[in-house]
Amino acid sequence: MNLILFGPPAAGKGTQAKRLVETRGMVQLSTGDMLRAAIASGSDLGQTVKGIMERGELVTDEIVVALIEARLDEAEAAGGAIFDGFPRTVAQAQALDAMLARRGSTIDRVVRLKVDDEALKARIAQRYAEQGRPDDNPESFRVRLEAYNRQTAPLLPYYEGQGKLVEIDGMASIDAVAGAIDTVLADA
Ligand code: ADP
Repeated sequence: MNLILFGPPAAGKGTQAKRLVETRGMVQLSTGDMLRAAIASGSDLGQTVKGIMERGELVTDEIVVALIEARLDEAEAAGGAIFDGFPRTVAQAQALDAMLARRGSTIDRVVRLKVDDEALKARIAQRYAEQGRPDDNPESFRVRLEAYNRQTAPLLPYYEGQGKLVEIDGMASIDAVAGAIDTVLADA
């Protein structure tokens, strides 16, 4: 079972992915977390992506596709992956389809968490006040939302065309969203 959690920044993807890891033993593949780990480690990759991420722009497809490919065998062995923050462009989605096809596997469901822009801004403002993540500042967040609308939202018709897209109300409580995802997975 391979699942993509899809939605704008602060939609709640990470929260739901972590719960699925605990309840189902799936592997969470979050390119945002991987990139932040690279920055924290001080590696060359981390230095390459630091400024791009802080501004709220997307890093190159090559970088994130390579990060995902390095973890796919482990995820397949564990029974599946929850993709969180990847793919973010149509090119990334095509690369993912090809990488999975080579392993005789596929994406089963794409769960879109729908949250309106005003609620996203309020969530990020609160997270910025509490945690101070560099790209949660208002200007970087504006850029992230723009990247989502321009580069990532075109994935919706891509996956709708494959018959894999399911929409969930991301404004509901964490438990209600979790329940809705479980229902989707039960008939996948
Ligand atoms: P968000 O809270 O916006 O969902 P993430 O933690 O998923 O944040 O990603 C943070 C940043 O990492 C993005 O704004 C972008 O710079 C970079 N990033 C993460 N995943 C990708 C990806 N698949 N393609 C390009 N850039 C990415």
